[in-house]
Amino acid sequence: MNISQTVERFKAYTDRFNAIHQALNLFSWDMAVGAPKGGTESRAKYVGILSAEEFSMRVSDEMKGFLDALEPYGESLDEITKAMLRICRRYYYAYKKIPVEEMREYSELLPRAEAVWEKAREENDFASFAPILDRIIRYQKKFVEYRGYEGHPYNTLLDDYEPGMTVEKLDVFFNRMKEVIVPLLKRIAASDGRQDKTGFVNRLVPVDKQRAVAGLLMKTVGFDLNRGMLKESAHPFTNDFGKNDVRITTHYHENAFLSSFYSVLHECGHAIYEQNKMDTIADTILDTGISMGVHESQSRFYENIIGRSEAFWEYIYNGLMEILGDDFKDVSARQFYEAANVAKPSLIRIEADELTYCLHIMVRYEIEKQLFSGDFDVNELPGVWNAKMREYLGVEPAADSAGILQDIHWSDGSFGYFPSYAIGNAYAAQILHVMRRDIPVENCVRNGDFKRIQEWLTEKIHRFGSLKTPSELMEELCGETLNAEYYAEYLTEKFSAVYNRSGVLILPRPHIRQNYFC
Ligand code: ZN
Repeated sequence: MNISQTVERFKAYTDRFNAIHQALNLFSWDMAVGAPKGGTESRAKYVGILSAEEFSMRVSDEMKGFLDALEPYGESLDEITKAMLRICRRYYYAYKKIPVEEMREYSELLPRAEAVWEKAREENDFASFAPILDRIIRYQKKFVEYRGYEGHPYNTLLDDYEPGMTVEKLDVFFNRMKEVIVPLLKRIAASDGRQDKTGFVNRLVPVDKQRAVAGLLMKTVGFDLNRGMLKESAHPFTNDFGKNDVRITTHYHENAFLSSFYSVLHECGHAIYEQNKMDTIADTILDTGISMGVHESQSRFYENIIGRSEAFWEYIYNGLMEILGDDFKDVSARQFYEAANVAKPSLIRIEADELTYCLHIMVRYEIEKQLFSGDFDVNELPGVWNAKMREYLGVEPAADSAGILQDIHWSDGSFGYFPSYAIGNAYAAQILHVMRRDIPVENCVRNGDFKRIQEWLTEKIHRFGSLKTPSELMEELCGETLNAEYYAEYLTEKFSAVYNRSGVLILPRPHIRQNYFC
């Protein structure tokens, strides 16, 4: 067999396990948007079988045969084949050491755990979630031992979501963020007592109006509904089946319409990334974003850098008022902008403002790091959680449902995922810094020229899909990898400006029970 025949067979092989992967994706989408609860056990069985099938193919002797046959040709291969080999090699050597049977048991456990977590959160009953959480953590710890690690054991899991990320790098990053955020928050706290002008955010907005707002936002930023759709779920997220089928969800709260407003912008950021990859990688294993950190940089760019800017509110105001009607006629664009940027320590991560968000991630990061560095007693976790919230944010939940149980991630085994959110924020600020050299970003937003921004992002980031590694992408684009300074500067500039001009920063926040993980 000649080399081009081997390449063809290798690609056909990747198509086969990618098809299984997409079927699993569809299960996951379906479970989130309304599959009947009574089917949980049946679906767990199918998901377990299909996951084991995909896993077996990716760590099979046949895969090893392709790697051995093609790797000697290294540089002479085209860039698409090279990138596919890199991804397959990485997976093969990371997971080959995990027995298929254990992976199957673990995969079956997760859909059950999600149902247990959901009930535990509803009933504020951590003790009912603790045993299954304990099993998930012990599986993950075992997998880390099988897979091996350099430095801290948690590094292996961090690397799954952001290749190359380590505890050593994140400790430096988070320490720097703490140095910047804590004094800024203190300054903001000193503004307590100023007039509260943002209570209008809790005015009732019926769901049909919120749907119209979501439609306006999707059209504004360029989410292509011919190759995408918006549905409703308890926890907003994005699910993609390659560039030509990208689905997002939101959740409408009648007394807090900005919640859906910003979740739609956030998910549109993820979706626009997925929809704008180059055609030559469509429906291959490269037809997906490169890492969770880079993915979050795109969602945060649309949600925060664009969506929480004053320029955006100036642009969107008229269109929004046409939908909201007389109920908001007393509210100016500037007031919406201020309401979207209230900064205050709070309990719920997904409701956190841009400034305090990083502190929520630090709480999870510190606990996960601890879980994987030695033995642990899962029953002690709520106490550890509450103590860290007090230490970093100065607030403590009265109930675990507003504390350690608030996020879905641990029930699906996503340890190492949380830091991606903070990394994404930092990357987004780095990307903004570079984008400003080429285009007048604020003017584009103010004038509604979102096409120009999207085309820049497509040219520099989106089109590559998984062709490049995150560090290659960031180095080529920004001249460096993760650097906390741009985000530190962005937060300092933004919140100094909001604070100095408005002072409307200390407000009670509505308590909304919701979660999302994308
Ligand atoms: Zn996200």
